[in-house]
Amino acid sequence: MQGDAYLKSIFPDSDLEYSIENTDVLSEKGHMLDVKYKNRPSDKLKEVFSQRRNPQGSIFNESGVWRFRELLNFCQIDTENLEECSKYLVSLDGAEGRQSKPYHMSKAAEFIGISNDNLWLQPEGYNPSGSFKDNGMTTAVTHAKMVGATKIVCASTGNTSASAGMFAANEGINCDVYIPAGQIAPGKLSQAYQFGAQIVEVDGNFDDALKQSLDDAKNHNGYTVNSVNPFRIEGQKTIPFRALEYLEWEVPDWIVYPGGALGNTSSCGKALMELYEWGWIKKIPRIAVINSEGASTLSDLYNGKFEGEELRWNKGKPNAELITRYYDHLDNQGIRPKTKATAIQIGRPANIFKALRALEFTNGVSTTVSDSEMLDGMSVVGLNGFDCEMASGASVVGIKKLINEGIIKKDDVVVGILTGRQKDAMLPVDYHQNPQNRFAIPPKN
Ligand SMILES: *Cc1c(COP(=O)(O)O)cnc(C)c1O
Repeated sequence: MQGDAYLKSIFPDSDLEYSIENTDVLSEKGHMLDVKYKNRPSDKLKEVFSQRRNPQGSIFNESGVWRFRELLNFCQIDTENLEECSKYLVSLDGAEGRQSKPYHMSKAAEFIGISNDNLWLQPEGYNPSGSFKDNGMTTAVTHAKMVGATKIVCASTGNTSASAGMFAANEGINCDVYIPAGQIAPGKLSQAYQFGAQIVEVDGNFDDALKQSLDDAKNHNGYTVNSVNPFRIEGQKTIPFRALEYLEWEVPDWIVYPGGALGNTSSCGKALMELYEWGWIKKIPRIAVINSEGASTLSDLYNGKFEGEELRWNKGKPNAELITRYYDHLDNQGIRPKTKATAIQIGRPANIFKALRALEFTNGVSTTVSDSEMLDGMSVVGLNGFDCEMASGASVVGIKKLINEGIIKKDDVVVGILTGRQKDAMLPVDYHQNPQNRFAIPPKN
């Protein structure tokens, strides 16, 4: 053990720090936490990571997450010692992150109106449970195991429960998942059942389910694996790491994500902050977060659509009251998050502060797209022979919208993250039955 990892409040004016064995996801003041490392990793590791792509018999080299283990070494182990890796690191036989890297997709590029050379789309649906969540779950469950947890708990719009259930079953620990009843794609729900998770149906939406799961974790000794967990964020840093590595650490101009609970946005921001601080990258890509029109908390607040104030991280002094008033406004008006892209149907994004920090560091932007646009985005990805779900389509049409608005320039290099694979079987079937849809290929009889 090298002893250099600890937890720290994300607010710069707070000096609350905790040992790495801490299991509370928030500080005693209710602040989100970061995993911090005292040591500065040498950029000679770039060569080590590249060599590990020939795994030499180690599943921790094969894993697209643990290949970068020096940059998320919160277990503080000797990362070259295979025995120690096997003892501490949770992995699904190296499958997490293994298949994901950025690809060119010419039909998507044509639809977006960008040159094919400048567009990269990274399908995270090719993770073992079918979404990017595996990148963060493998690390969260590693921490759960490190502190001796016997039950993990999460709320989910579907993919978190599939991923949590899979890793829990593989590690032989229990898993409770809180889901908004009737609002989960059957393909995701069935995975949670298949992996033997205990489903708890909540009468309400995702935000209600999250609240209930956090209460239950506290009261019944559960270990929370939602993206409020700072160790989830560590694993998800490898999504931009892989993109950057495949681009030979040539930094793109933009990285684009759909926005739900904003864990991905937060992890990308943290990854870039660390790489920049260590001198591994000289330029900072801008992050674009694409909300659905029906669940647009970040976009509304960031763009000053509520009370006219543009919410900012403001160097660690964000206007938290503005967020509270926005949530009160949603409640008072009876506004519930509503989109067919259930993975991003979230009104109260738990990582909003970390996401604001990420946007400030990267000079980021946020915007919204409609359900029908997302379905077009999803469908054009399919025409390139790649699979993704509706929420992931937001990255594609979000890029298109930002190019049309002149925010992303036509010669910018853009990486869009396709967050998950299709688990809502009837969406493409319905889409293609209707000849009005832009990419529909209706059946013949
Ligand atoms: C969870 C999820 C999202 C939302 O990601 P956040 O990190 O919560 O913003 C988007 N797309 C898919 C497919 C997901 O499973």
